[in-house]
Amino acid sequence: MNKIKFFLADEAMRKDIVQAVADAMALFDIQPAAAKSAAANREELTTDQVLVYNKVIDETTITVTTEIFFRRDNGTLGCLIHRQQTAPEEASDSAVVRLVKLNILRLMSNLLSYNPSPWGILRGVRPTKIIHRLLDRGWQLPAIIERLQTVYGLDPEKAQLVTNVAARQWPFLPPAGKQSRMISVYIGIPFCPSRCVYCSFPSYPLPRDDSQLQSFLQALFRDIEATAALIRRHNLAVETIYVGGGTPTSLNAYQFSSLLSLIEKHFVGPALKEFTVEAGRPDSITVEKIRAMQRFHVTRTSVNPQTMQQKTLNLIGRQHTVQDIINIFYQIRNNANLLINMDIIVGLPGETTADVADTVEQLAALDPDNLTIHTLARKRGAGWTGSWDKYCLPEAATVAEMLAVAKARAEQMGMQPYYLYRQKHMTGNLENIGYAKPGTECLYNIQIISERQTIIGIGPAAATKAVDAATWRISSCYNAKDLNTYITDLDRYLAMRSKLIAKLYPPGEEE
Ligand code: SF4
Repeated sequence: MNKIKFFLADEAMRKDIVQAVADAMALFDIQPAAAKSAAANREELTTDQVLVYNKVIDETTITVTTEIFFRRDNGTLGCLIHRQQTAPEEASDSAVVRLVKLNILRLMSNLLSYNPSPWGILRGVRPTKIIHRLLDRGWQLPAIIERLQTVYGLDPEKAQLVTNVAARQWPFLPPAGKQSRMISVYIGIPFCPSRCVYCSFPSYPLPRDDSQLQSFLQALFRDIEATAALIRRHNLAVETIYVGGGTPTSLNAYQFSSLLSLIEKHFVGPALKEFTVEAGRPDSITVEKIRAMQRFHVTRTSVNPQTMQQKTLNLIGRQHTVQDIINIFYQIRNNANLLINMDIIVGLPGETTADVADTVEQLAALDPDNLTIHTLARKRGAGWTGSWDKYCLPEAATVAEMLAVAKARAEQMGMQPYYLYRQKHMTGNLENIGYAKPGTECLYNIQIISERQTIIGIGPAAATKAVDAATWRISSCYNAKDLNTYITDLDRYLAMRSKLIAKLYPPGEEE
């Protein structure tokens, strides 16, 4: 059956149930049909339509029964039924939505003989947070794995993977209940040598007009100074620093050194465990910048080829060669004592599983400390939005195969998965996953995805998230994405941030 549409049997149904049906059907790329009266439709169904009926019984526990009517190719009417009950402690509204989605996933997988969602009905960006909450309550890992499969419909492999990742992160997380004064600091540099077609980050080509760059740096340096004062005022301690973007190494050697020097002066102290500077694009790195990283106590960097296939680099808007990546990798190894992460993306246009296998083989020969494997996401706001059809993108099943090949090679390199997140519009509903050799895990990546440590964001589009350890509630504020707004309205953003931090951390209080 192609291009199936669905009808809802009861148009007066609760809005959250209607949305739950739409969300679950969207996993199969099935859209709602124009509204029609239910009972009348059952006999009129065609082979490219299904009719969905949900019945909720709200007693001691909630029971949701979902029926799906469909027309077989031989003209007879078929019906599949699935019924599930809530767990005793579940809140009733969210339970109904969850059960409707799960019922539809089960029924449509059965009807169409395929399951498009290895992550079941989980849609959140940070699935590890669910496991951390269960670990807080003393759950054992086998019970968590079981629950992820029954309650959210995860494939056994994904349930095992995400549980292992969350358990690996557990020792690095701040303890529940007591407000820790350890924080992380993020500094965003929104420039890149050129824009990759799939990129939706707020990143700009370096301004030709030097005065605009100078205005940006002045604002950024003021942002750093204000953060340092805020940290002192509230007696906070910096555990990790992450300079990302964009591509921080897009700045020239003098600007880059000045930036690192200021960061070192204000944030490198006895509590610091990690200082990462992304050097994502090989066409932005020089030996001088590598030596600056070493001089200012950077501990970790990231060179992000995304692929080692020249045809793909050309296609996605990179202006460097595969050999540039190799050269820069060895220049970093030879000139600085840094842990090196490398990022790749599976599902890039025109690539085959053999291309991905070759990419990871070439990276294995370089022997980086970390390998981050992203799955291509078709994000709105990227350069190729609206023209995806022109790019020859691999099928979801092929991308799943590529991911499996890359993961297997990372494991052969002695790495283990240690952080994981998901995004909207990912090919095949898959995941992004960070691998590290034991002892080289990026703490910042763990903290940002776990959302249990306060992170102060500096620079355009940076988020500050203050986390209350009593409840794990997060209060956030965001700097302007737009470069000029960030520069002109910086005082307003600094004031918002100060207020946010002051609410959670009384000034000068000792741990
Ligand atoms: S290097 Fe990264 S931030 Fe810059 S354009 Fe490419 S994907 Fe975007």
